[in-house]
Amino acid sequence: MKKTIGLLVLDIDNTVFDWVTYYVNCMGSLFDKVFELTGVPVDTLAAEAKVVFTAQGSIEYPFLVQELPSVFGPYSENIDKLLSEVVGPARDAFNKTAEGFLKPYTDVIQTLDVITKERPDLPIVALTDAPRYVAMWKLNKLGLLSYFDSVYGLADPKIPVDPRTNLPKVDPEILTKHLQQFDFGFSGRIRVLPEEYEKPGVRGLKTILMDYDLEDHQDKITWVGDNLRKDVGLGKKLGVCTAWAKYGTLIDETVKSQLLAFSPEQNVHKNVALDPLKDNSPQPNIVLESFSDLLAAMKI
Ligand SMILES: [Mg+2]
Repeated sequence: MKKTIGLLVLDIDNTVFDWVTYYVNCMGSLFDKVFELTGVPVDTLAAEAKVVFTAQGSIEYPFLVQELPSVFGPYSENIDKLLSEVVGPARDAFNKTAEGFLKPYTDVIQTLDVITKERPDLPIVALTDAPRYVAMWKLNKLGLLSYFDSVYGLADPKIPVDPRTNLPKVDPEILTKHLQQFDFGFSGRIRVLPEEYEKPGVRGLKTILMDYDLEDHQDKITWVGDNLRKDVGLGKKLGVCTAWAKYGTLIDETVKSQLLAFSPEQNVHKNVALDPLKDNSPQPNIVLESFSDLLAAMKI
């Protein structure tokens, strides 16, 4: 086994890419498509989405459309028709928009290339509150999955089921990928953490330290995240070197309000840092104006 002398642990959303702009735009395309196909107003779809996201505990629930009452109602007798006429086209609209927005911040790939070249012994680990499947789907599309030695995320999305028939309300091909816990060809370690390990709880990062046998080497760990309350807060509690991705908090006000239109407040905090750095915020060891600032901070 290779000798580990440290770890670089990265949050994903708004740390390696602009999640907010990506998600707001993709959901905008999805809602527009559902409106076009069903005539249900976008405001109604957004309000119903909040309820579904709350129930599922994730704003990135991939089976949203079939769970929206206004959409499901008229198709309740014919799930296959719902999937082919609305859910599939809505997913296509989301994915098409995602192609343009799932790009890492401009300096991320270059920086990761330098880190892997200069510190080939340093494992890079993803720690996210996104569902594991969704996190890996994004990392794969971002072209970043191969940089990681392991991925730690929360439980995979629940498959929606028609209560009357007990049949899944999901396209068979997609259902198979979820049931098989598709790994996107990733050869590293994948860990699904219990919901109660959600940040700012320390148990997710603690699990990583235990897995890498580094529990007593906090000074060798660099942990990077954009959310002061959650990411920086937990890093400070564990005593690891904590870098704040300040650039990930610079979110356009219009985009932020578009996000709030369909996301429950308690869910938004999972993905977006809404508060600026204040005297009473957890104070990071390092402030990153850009991802590449990590190189100097880690003396690479
Ligand atoms: Mg984040």
